[in-house]
Amino acid sequence: MGFLIVNDDEFPGKDQESVIHIHKDRCDGCSMCVDTCPTQALEIVPNRNRPGKHIVFVHPRLCKGCGVCQATCPKEALFLPGLSPENIRTYISKAVAEACQNSPV
Ligand code: SF4
Ligand code: SF4
Repeated sequence: MGFLIVNDDEFPGKDQESVIHIHKDRCDGCSMCVDTCPTQALEIVPNRNRPGKHIVFVHPRLCKGCGVCQATCPKEALFLPGLSPENIRTYISKAVAEACQNSPV
């Protein structure tokens, strides 16, 4: 599975763990995430790997790593490192299992 980290740009001085990452194979450029970003860090641009298609681009210096956009993407194309959709599902499963174990009923 391929990841696109801010269109492969280098951004020295910024912790890459705190910038949203993109699953480049999942994003179809629908733009649903763009207006949810409080810092206007997201932009839809031509997908240089798929002529005629678009993809979201992250402006790394504007991204604050809040994760709001991740929650809005219907394709699960956005994620913060350590907070991937797979990790979130694992956390939720564990929390539900623990809650069931501790339930008095
Ligand atoms: S990241 Fe998700 S919501 Fe944003 S443009 Fe891509 S597919 Fe659409
Ligand atoms: S993580 Fe927050 S600041 Fe960064 S692009 Fe997404 S909504 Fe914007």
